[in-house]
Amino acid sequence: MALRKKFAPRRKFCRFCADPDTPLSYKNPEVLKDFVTERGKIIARRITGVCARHQRKLTREIKRARQMALLIYTATHDSTVRKKSAI
Ligand SMILES: [Zn+2]
Repeated sequence: MALRKKFAPRRKFCRFCADPDTPLSYKNPEVLKDFVTERGKIIARRITGVCARHQRKLTREIKRARQMALLIYTATHDSTVRKKSAI
């Protein structure tokens, strides 16, 4: 019985290298979301298969997206917490 992983089953090539049209930018949280867990953690490169160059860019863009409040930092961040820290 082979272990089936949710992400990139056996295909170990960088998604952004394979498809240069994939927008890797904080403006596209839909793409970034594939590389963070539902708790907001960035998924390790060895799991997603992203190459070093793109992983670096990806990390930067995810952090940027977090600052713009397009992505979550942690699962506990809800609107009430945000409001409190804004004051
Ligand atoms: Zn790449």
